[in-house]
Order: sequence, then C-alpha cells, then structure tokens
Amino acid sequence: METKNIKAFGADAAAAALTPMQIQRRTLTPHDVEIEILFCGICHSDLHQVKNDFGGAMFPMVPGHEMVGRVTAIGDHVTKFKVGDLAAVGCIVDSCRVCEYCKESQEQFCDEGVTFSFNSADKTHGGYTFGGYSESIVTDEKYVLHVPESLDLAAAAPLLCAGITVYSPLKHWNVGPGTKVGILGIGGLGHVAIKIAKAMGAHVVVLTTSATKVADAKRLGADEAVLTTDPAQMAKLTRSLNFILDTVSAKHDVNAYLNLLKPDGSVVLVGLPPEPLSIAAFSVVAGRRSFSGSNIGGIAETQEMLDFCAKHNITADIELINIQDINEAYERLEKGDVHYRFVIDMASLKN
Ligand code: NAP
Ligand code: ZN
Ligand code: ZN
Repeated sequence: METKNIKAFGADAAAAALTPMQIQRRTLTPHDVEIEILFCGICHSDLHQVKNDFGGAMFPMVPGHEMVGRVTAIGDHVTKFKVGDLAAVGCIVDSCRVCEYCKESQEQFCDEGVTFSFNSADKTHGGYTFGGYSESIVTDEKYVLHVPESLDLAAAAPLLCAGITVYSPLKHWNVGPGTKVGILGIGGLGHVAIKIAKAMGAHVVVLTTSATKVADAKRLGADEAVLTTDPAQMAKLTRSLNFILDTVSAKHDVNAYLNLLKPDGSVVLVGLPPEPLSIAAFSVVAGRRSFSGSNIGGIAETQEMLDFCAKHNITADIELINIQDINEAYERLEKGDVHYRFVIDMASLKN
C-alpha cells in the first residue's frame, strides 16, 4: 500500500514523554477523505493509553481522538465532503459495517469490535491506527463528521469524544425536564455534561472534589454544586437524584453516589478507573437502583450531538496549547488541574 510520511507527536514506550515522530498515512482509497488537522483535544483516555493503564497498548503511539480540521483531498467515490469543508474525526474510524449494530449506526457495539482512531488494530488496511496529534488523517467518509460552521473550531474539538460520551447516556436515560441529574467529576467530560444536561432541560447538580469547581459550577450552567468530600453536603442530597453521570477517571466509592439516587435511579459510569469498583448489595437492592455504563456513541448520534451543540451554542471551555507543551499538559491532566479541556493548536506542529 502506498503511504505518505507526515509529522506527529507520540510516545515510544509506556509512560514515556511524547516527542516528535514521523508516521505514515495511507494514500486515498476511493471512499477516503484526507483532513488537515487544525485542532485536537486531549482526553484523559489518551493519558490512560500512554500509561498503558488497561494493558495491550502498542508503541510507538500517537494519541488523539478529538480532531477537527479541513478536507484537503477526497477519493473518487466520496459524496459527503468536498475539498475545503470543515470536518471532524472522533473515536471511531472503522467497523464491520454489516452487523446489526453497524447497520443502525451504533458502531460502538459492532460485533467485530470497532477500530478506534488510535492504538487499535486496523483490520481493513493492516497495522494499527495513529491518532490526531498529527498533521493529517485519512479516513473513510462514513466515519467523518460535519462540523457546524457556527461553532468555534478549537472549542468544538472536545465534543468529538467528551461531547458524544456524555450526550449518548444523557439521552438514553431520558434526561430532560423534570429530572434531577448529578454530574460527578468536573473535568473534560463533566463540564460538557453540565452544559448538555442543562440544554436538555434537566435540573443539574455538580458533584465535585474541588472547591474551585463548586465556585465555578453556576457559570458552567449548573443549578447546584456539592463538595463530595463534605459529609454534611452529601447527606442533604440523599435520595434526591434521578440520574448520576459518573465521569471519574480514578478509583472511587460508587456506593456514596448510589445512595444519592431516588428509587429506580441510575448511576451511569463513563469514567474508566483502571481498578475494579465494588458495590455493596444494599446500594442497589434498596430502592431498585441501577449501576450501569456507557461507551462513546455511534457516528449518527455523534452528528446529532454536534448539531444539538450548534443549536444550543455549546462548546468546551478550553486551554489552547502548542504541541511542544504537551508533556506539561499531561502532568496537569494527571493532577486534575485543567479548566476544563486542553486542546492542541496543530499549527504548532510546523514549528
Ligand atoms: P478529566 O478531565 O481528567 O476529568 C476527570 C475528573 O474526575 C477530574 O477533573 C476530577 O473532577 C475527577 N477525579 C479525578 N480523580 C479523582 C479521584 N481520585 N476521586 C474523585 N474524583 C476524581 O478526564 P476526562 O477526559 O473528562 O475523562 C474522564 C474519564 O472518562 C477518564 O477515565 C476517561 O478515560 C474516560 N472516558 C471514557 C469514555 C467512554 O466512552 N466511556 C470516553 C472518554 C473518556 P473533580 O475535580 O470535579 O472531582
Ligand atoms: Zn476520549
Ligand atoms: Zn459491526
């Protein structure tokens, strides 16, 4: 297969610093779109993968799965995009296309397993995938999204993972007018979840370990905020919430949050703590409560989410960085010191 060398930033080994590297992108096949990446968000999943938190990571690794940019070339059979269009790529770049889930554009449930945009075996083209901390990406148009022109491009990048990961469960669990929703963990995912849940019409309660984020919660659109390390504030919330979206990236006690649910309420985990979590019987048996999970969302729903965010003027609150500052950004992400998503200005890759 013909390839093109491009510039990227990545890690040579688990937990290594990210450094400049060259990678190969395939030349366009008939259904491919080539996108110059203008901005790429930094998700906590990028950090988990570089640290090989879940095992099986492949190196060298180029992370990045919140990409927005402009189409620079199209294959002969491309119909959805033309050169110059805004375009975005999120977590999924391929799937089997024929299973019942792919047919419904619920690719995240593909029977064969999806191909993620980085650190994933590329079943169609061979090798494994490299993500968005790079000059450009070549992807089948089926997995490429349209970015509404009204959104600020840099601040829209995090919607490609943080946005869909919170939109999908909020919608699936019917969050809306009349529901009281807790958003647990106010990082990249959590702060976007506040905005989306509010736009869906819910009453939104922030659940955070950070006093500064309690102070910032109303500005982000929340109705209430609770410091979860304060037992008195937590006690007041007992049996009051219909739904909690749990975005916490490290081990934590989910029982404390299950106890905040009304009967029939659900805690839905989207965070990926590497260690198992334990649930006490009475946390779910009492009040017929549920503990569940959710993983990103399909391509059609990702487009729906982008259009919803354009309608409600929702983007992430970002800190824009040059790629040369990425290792410092990773250190701050590890400590939870981000307000609220780092986005890389990919023009800096040319420096
Ligand atoms: P992030 O920006 O680092 O935010 C995580 C937040 O969790 C922190 O800001 C902090 O919020 C809270 N937190 C962290 N450590 C904690 C601890 N030990 N105890 C209590 N709270 C803690 O991360 P993110 O990018 O939003 O991602 C969040 C998680 O979702 C990660 O594990 C990521 O891999 C995962 N993820 C999953 C999916 C999916 O499809 N399921 C998609 C994307 C990301 P407070 O300061 O408010 O307490
Ligand atoms: Zn992500
Ligand atoms: Zn499939």
